[in-house]
Amino acid sequence: MSSKFIYFFGALGGLLFGYDTGIISGALHFLGQGLHVEENSLEEGFVTASLLIGAALGAIIAGKLADIIGRKKTLLLASFIFCIGAAFSGLAPDVSIIVAARIILGFGVGAASALVPMYLSELSPAAKRGSLAFLNQLMIVLGILLSYVVNYVFVEAFSDEFNASSGWRIVLSAAVVPALLMLVGTLFLPESPRYLVRVGDTAEAKRVLSNLRPASAIDREVEEINAALSTRKGNFKELFSKFARPAIIIGATLAFLQQFMGVNTVIYYAPKILQTVALDEQGQRLVTIGIGLVNVVATIVAITIIDRVNRRTIFTAGAVCMAIGLSVLAFVEGTDLEHTNQPLAAVITSFMLMFYIISFGITWGGAMWIVLGEIFPLHVRGIGVGLASMVNWVSNFLVTLLFPAALGLLDDDPFLIYIAMTLVCLAGVVFVRTCMFETKGKTLEDIETDLQMRAMKLKEGK
Ligand code: BGC
Repeated sequence: MSSKFIYFFGALGGLLFGYDTGIISGALHFLGQGLHVEENSLEEGFVTASLLIGAALGAIIAGKLADIIGRKKTLLLASFIFCIGAAFSGLAPDVSIIVAARIILGFGVGAASALVPMYLSELSPAAKRGSLAFLNQLMIVLGILLSYVVNYVFVEAFSDEFNASSGWRIVLSAAVVPALLMLVGTLFLPESPRYLVRVGDTAEAKRVLSNLRPASAIDREVEEINAALSTRKGNFKELFSKFARPAIIIGATLAFLQQFMGVNTVIYYAPKILQTVALDEQGQRLVTIGIGLVNVVATIVAITIIDRVNRRTIFTAGAVCMAIGLSVLAFVEGTDLEHTNQPLAAVITSFMLMFYIISFGITWGGAMWIVLGEIFPLHVRGIGVGLASMVNWVSNFLVTLLFPAALGLLDDDPFLIYIAMTLVCLAGVVFVRTCMFETKGKTLEDIETDLQMRAMKLKEGK
């Protein structure tokens, strides 16, 4: 089996993550007409946030399951859940069933978010691990862009009576197509060689690696994986042992910061933000698609640089650039520019949102998920990635739920929100410079040895 097939289907879960999270903003427009869901109501909030609750649960459960039954079987389960969730949300007779279907879909999204970066990291050679694991982020942003385009086409072209009542069924259930593709593709994927060595199937691990590495490198890699596997158990308690604790602290903090820097206030609510500088509806939709597009381009740029620049430098540069973009946005709001010169305020805001998204897309967007996939020791990798992903989804849920309410409280003036997000970016710089260690170019086993050395030093220090 070709390595391209393996990496493509291994990353496909990211596309569903992106599509299923991005599609709801447009679907809400139809749900209002078709199922009479009121705008800015609690019901609307539930429809949006239900997926994120499911994702938080899906991430932790899938992470643990991946340690027990393996990466491939858990990926298969996630693909199956994607199919069921998409079909149900399209067929739902009322809002409560949509909420239930979105929770099920969320399980798939959360599972994919934990599994895909881990699976790609475990299959990739150290020197290319960054760019291959970034395929996950590329799929996510392509999924988001696809959802924006589908929304745009449906809202623009089919806003007549018939489509108003059934358009949401089409946009929600369209996700069945990539879900089925993922289900079939995953059937042919190999199990992760690192999981195979862990459960004692060295022969199969070598066979899988023979598709992905030159023959001369295989025995050494398997020996290294074996050496890294000590007598550890791999249970929840071990995740918080001196040995693995730095990994969970770094993973969970990066996951938290990635969301509180505010990316999804832009990804999910760009039109709302653009409304604050009085851009018309057509302009809002076009800038939103522009944001989706630059996110994809930024991710492609990121793939070319991720294995050449230290991860810590990437995180630092990204947080600094996002802080600059957010400060300019705060300046526009703080000086009331939209009242004195509305066109200029709309242009600066649109460009700064794009600059912010480019800065995120080249750095924290994919790099956070990569670090999650590589930082945990093999024995607790599934549960560790699952827990950190859960932190990401809970943070996402809080930001998504609180942003519109906060904007309402502040009389539609996001000045203080931008300031808060700038401060989170600066906190991110401090955290990366003081607490994070470098993982670029190291094998997963070297990273594990680093953790072991740190734990020993800590012990000696006591
Ligand atoms: C984040 C998502 C976000 C997406 C946008 C991902 O890395 O985890 O929450 O919507 O990037 O590009």
